[in-house]
Amino acid sequence: MDPFESERAPLPRNMIENSMFEEEPDVVDLGKESPSYPIDSDDVVYEPRSSRLLVRGLGENDMDEEEEDYESSARLLGMSFMNRSSNQRSSAASYTRQQPSGTCSMPSAKKTVLGVLMLILVASIVMVIYFLPRCTFSKDGCHKVNNSMENIYPVASNGELFPWTMLKLPASVRPIHYNISLQPNLTTMTFQGSVSIRIMVLQETKRVVLHSSDMMIHDATFENKPVTILEYKPWQQIAIKFSDELQKGQYVLNIEYSANLSNSYDGFYNSSYIDTSGIKRVLAATQFEPLAARKAFPCFDEPAFKASFLIKIKREPEYISLSNMPKVSSTKLPNGLFEDEFEKTVNMSTYLVAFVVANFSSVSRNVSDTLVSVYAVPDKKDQVLYALDTVSKLLQFYNSFFEIPYPLRKLDLVGIPDFLAGAMENWGLITFRETTLLVGNHSSPMDKQLVTSVIAHELAHQWFGNLVTMRWWNDLWLNEGFATYMQYMSIKKVFPELDIDNEFLRVRFQALAEDALNSSHSVSAEVTTPEQVAEMFDSMSYEKGASVLLMLNANLKEEVFRKGVIDYLKKFSYSNTESVDLWCSFSLMEQHINVTEMMNTWTTQKGFPLVSVKRTGMQVSLTQEHFLLNANSTTDHSNLWHIPLTYVNDTCSKLDSCVQLLLFKTKTATLNLTDNVKWLKFNYKNNGFYIVDYGVDGWAALIEALNNDVNVLPQMDRASLINNVFALSRLGKVSFRQILNLLVYLKNETEAAPLTEALTQLNHILRLLDKRSDLNLMSRMTSYIFTIFGKLMDSQSWGEETSVSKQTLRSALLETACNLDRPNCIEQAKTLYDQWKASNKTKTIPGDLLRAVLSVAAQNKEFWPELFENYQRSIFDSEKRKTLEALASTQDVHTIMWILQATLSGSDVQTPELPLVIRTVCRQFAGYLHAWDFVKENWDKIVEKFPIGSFALQNIIMSTTSQFSSKMHLEEVENFFSSLKDRGFQMRTFQEATETIKLNMQWMDKNLATLRTWL
Ligand SMILES: [Zn+2]
Repeated sequence: MDPFESERAPLPRNMIENSMFEEEPDVVDLGKESPSYPIDSDDVVYEPRSSRLLVRGLGENDMDEEEEDYESSARLLGMSFMNRSSNQRSSAASYTRQQPSGTCSMPSAKKTVLGVLMLILVASIVMVIYFLPRCTFSKDGCHKVNNSMENIYPVASNGELFPWTMLKLPASVRPIHYNISLQPNLTTMTFQGSVSIRIMVLQETKRVVLHSSDMMIHDATFENKPVTILEYKPWQQIAIKFSDELQKGQYVLNIEYSANLSNSYDGFYNSSYIDTSGIKRVLAATQFEPLAARKAFPCFDEPAFKASFLIKIKREPEYISLSNMPKVSSTKLPNGLFEDEFEKTVNMSTYLVAFVVANFSSVSRNVSDTLVSVYAVPDKKDQVLYALDTVSKLLQFYNSFFEIPYPLRKLDLVGIPDFLAGAMENWGLITFRETTLLVGNHSSPMDKQLVTSVIAHELAHQWFGNLVTMRWWNDLWLNEGFATYMQYMSIKKVFPELDIDNEFLRVRFQALAEDALNSSHSVSAEVTTPEQVAEMFDSMSYEKGASVLLMLNANLKEEVFRKGVIDYLKKFSYSNTESVDLWCSFSLMEQHINVTEMMNTWTTQKGFPLVSVKRTGMQVSLTQEHFLLNANSTTDHSNLWHIPLTYVNDTCSKLDSCVQLLLFKTKTATLNLTDNVKWLKFNYKNNGFYIVDYGVDGWAALIEALNNDVNVLPQMDRASLINNVFALSRLGKVSFRQILNLLVYLKNETEAAPLTEALTQLNHILRLLDKRSDLNLMSRMTSYIFTIFGKLMDSQSWGEETSVSKQTLRSALLETACNLDRPNCIEQAKTLYDQWKASNKTKTIPGDLLRAVLSVAAQNKEFWPELFENYQRSIFDSEKRKTLEALASTQDVHTIMWILQATLSGSDVQTPELPLVIRTVCRQFAGYLHAWDFVKENWDKIVEKFPIGSFALQNIIMSTTSQFSSKMHLEEVENFFSSLKDRGFQMRTFQEATETIKLNMQWMDKNLATLRTWL
């Protein structure tokens, strides 16, 4: 999936090492139905040790819990415990963890002996526990024994006990094949469904548990005999209980049901748009990742439960239907409807199933053995050719890069008018926002870069994610980090003109900034609740995941990296993996480095290292420590990373062949130079995920070198120095004066990467000052920005520009200039707007300047309505979105309030744009506090549309709070978050938000005086 909104937020997560019982939570009191997921440590009811093990034993051995009395069960304790481990090993092999992190090799004799010893030890502990009084480990000693089963199993909707106690489904049953038949009604916005699931019982059990949400079940049979379905709504689970144990083997479960087409953007949902003749058109589409397949059909909705699917859809004649596989037949039914049947799918996870019923048009082309088609609403059928060309080239590239041909006979790309994510990689049926798929006359090379990136990302998922899938959401990064990495890598090779390297550098800087917070989490992190699953779709899984892969690739030979990827994909095709499986494939190809050991330090601990360099003559001492912005006395300073430390020096600094490498894995190290070089630059092209402090002398030498010759380092290294000095200033390691010293060299800088990075950093400070209403410092900071960038701002052309990097730089410079009311910029923007209007909008404004030009116009009350009309009429989505940003940049408070409401209700602006509208409103002083009030007042409505934990909601929270820097605002934000309780309080974004405000306050305390002195 591509979350699309560029400012994703990372959230904290406790990393818990794999343990024997990792998949299972401790025993909790589920007797009282809780609307949220009661796995918080505070909610855990401490049970006697023996009781805990008993429940686990039951969970796996299917005792009849209603008949089992506690005393007799306790006597079975040891047996249950032992059975559990052996059963899992033998019959549910695909659901047990393969190897502990950090090991790849086959078990040696030594390990076998160790294993036997461990088993003896475990058995001894069990025996000791068995013979101890059963209350020995309870908090309250022997006087408290309350172990009725009603306290352990939740109560189903019909009042019976629900026979399962965990969020993850039992491993004793797995699906093999689904027959799904659906009949959506686009008038009543409901659908009827029937599903027939062939299941395999892997170990004897008295229950079958699966997922289902928001549906009315009318009828259910098991092996053609009627059965009662129990439902436990809070966990979206249904179950069937049997009086006798089901023996190992295959069975068929049939369920007939109906449901409403969803009004949010997940499950099987209804979407609509107004066509150019003003008629409202409706359609139905799906978005299942991560946990919404269960809203469309009852299923085993976990990524490891792969199965095949045969899908049939009944539709009215004016619509077409699409699904993952090619259509086999289309039959006219007596009631006038058509029934489309699709080929049986390959083995795949439920979250990748998809279907669309709509009135779309398409263009197609054969690429190798695959029929590639791009679908859009009929009004936009002329905008699909760019996507068709792009996906064709990328498909050929991936087919040959992975040495595994795309396995399906067709691949559809579909633009959905009302879509929340950027895109979704459903196997064979990739769905997109229209903005990330369609390219029209008004699209600029930057817009094409976006469309190409999203297509490249989703196409990479057809291998990373679809063919090989993470076992559980804790390793989501295996999907998302890899697809993100492949998107940049493939575009660099196939579309070099799109200048993607600078964009990748920008997102790495963003990931570093987010990972510097205590509220961050490790790339591979413990995930239990649905909210936590949703929160994994963040910068750590995507951008940090991609960054550590880049670092590994830069460290291995490119071909070694590719061979490792191919080995991994071939070995695990159609199955599931964990991080260690990937590292092991690289280890097989690379004998010199322990890849698993090295990469585990990057994916299993949060944060990244700060490398401090101190040079004395020919000797360079290096130290690494956790780069943590709010470190305090309780911070654990023992974290170490295995850093593939790269460096260049003044004698050779611009070519890849200049790079020297040191694997730095201890707290300190010494580097002995062979030449008396003038300076050293570490982290070549910022390919590594760390920040470097050169010390006073080291920085001075680099600054002098840049002042003498700006081209002494590649532009990515110059950008890296700028990024690092700002980060170090936030950490308190360098003064603001040091930043100003470095930025002096910018007078000779012409390249996009360093200039846009400096501009981004200064704009950030400017916004904080703006929100404090510190007008004096604001105006001094504005003058400072003009001193550095003014000449460049005034010399930018306003005509068509084909180079992406020039467009990136030009739009960044001119948007800042116009926003700060630089006269030259305002004048040029007005002229362009007038010419555009005078030509009746036939004369186009260059796409990269559209937002700057329209934002200037939108400040004029007279022009706002005509811009809004243009927004509503435009069929070019990139133009439409930039117009919306211009509209939301208004300083008029009434208009701001109106546009926020109109977007939330979806009346005049599509609701998926709410994160964008809020982010834009928050850039301006006038809208900032209003947006925060709006979010507080409309919280319940917002979380109806944007689920708790989703990236859209993360985005909304961070946009509205991240510019506060006062104690009063901190308290207000904290009070609001704590008032939410089960309406979202558990979100990790809240920790990030309050931490960010505290850091802003600290920064202001430390730097305001310096700014006053030096600006
Ligand atoms: Zn993705």
